[in-house]
Amino acid sequence: MVSGAARLAGVIGWPVGHSKSPIIQNYWLEKYRIDGIYVPLAINPDHLEQVLKSLPLMGFRGVDVTLPHKETTLRLMDRLDPLAKRVGAVNTVVIDDDGMMTGLNTDVFGFVENLRIHQPDYDFSARPAMILGAGGAARAAIVGLQEQGCPEILVANRTIKRAEELADDLEGGGTIKIVPWEECEEHMADLGLLSNATQLGMTGQPPLPVHLGSLPKDAIVCDIVYSPMKTALLTEAEARGARIVNGLGMLLHQARPGFEAWFDILPDVDETLEGLMIAK
Ligand code: NAP
Repeated sequence: MVSGAARLAGVIGWPVGHSKSPIIQNYWLEKYRIDGIYVPLAINPDHLEQVLKSLPLMGFRGVDVTLPHKETTLRLMDRLDPLAKRVGAVNTVVIDDDGMMTGLNTDVFGFVENLRIHQPDYDFSARPAMILGAGGAARAAIVGLQEQGCPEILVANRTIKRAEELADDLEGGGTIKIVPWEECEEHMADLGLLSNATQLGMTGQPPLPVHLGSLPKDAIVCDIVYSPMKTALLTEAEARGARIVNGLGMLLHQARPGFEAWFDILPDVDETLEGLMIAK
């Protein structure tokens, strides 16, 4: 249902054709019978500032932001949500009626909500967690864990300097301890949660060279990679009897706050949407 008064939103990326956001957002627009439309926008990095500034003039309520624009967008916002500031990246822009742009990072919400929904008994504050990776997704996951009171977060990344920069930026919300990438399996004995936040294990990427070492049997193993849905890491964890959480839920839940801000309904992640995503 799209009229001349339809609310507009979209996703900005370069390229943008791989983005799953139009499937998710347009599913919700249809489900909730909202007069709105959500479009993919392929924006060359050289034009990002110009495009962002023109969105309020065209009546957009906001956009999602994907690679490679998340860090640059942060610097172009009128206002920043404190979590986006902490992560250092914006993945959702909300445009007010006065044209002011606020940057959010909803990957933080998506990471935590995915764990909450799929492992409701998990106590974030009980035991340390380990994050593999130190990129944008790892930063969002770590800020989410800090917000939930995780007592200690171990970070293992191939490039140690990047892990050190991350720890400098995010220390203060909770204890971060860097462990060497090659030795991370030796530091798993006390963990309540292990999460991959690299692209390793994704279809077309090298395998994740990390095994579960001394990880306790009752720990949760999470992978933010969603293609394939069950990565080699999750298969190994399941075979050991560990509880597993895949990356599809993070992708779906991170989309909810943007939809709410633009279209005034906090949407559900239902089985039909999950089925649609798996089919795609
Ligand atoms: P990024 O900022 O480029 O970071 C990539 C990370 O992967 C870095 O820690 C990098 O280590 C590591 N890495 C890459 N190749 C490696 C290799 N060959 N060996 C060891 N480590 C390697 O990317 P990002 O934005 O964090 O995204 C990471 C993944 O998360 C992507 O697959 C993305 O699709 C996924 N993601 C999923 C969701 C979701 O909703 N499920 C949300 C956000 C992102 P170095 O620092 O050593 O290069």
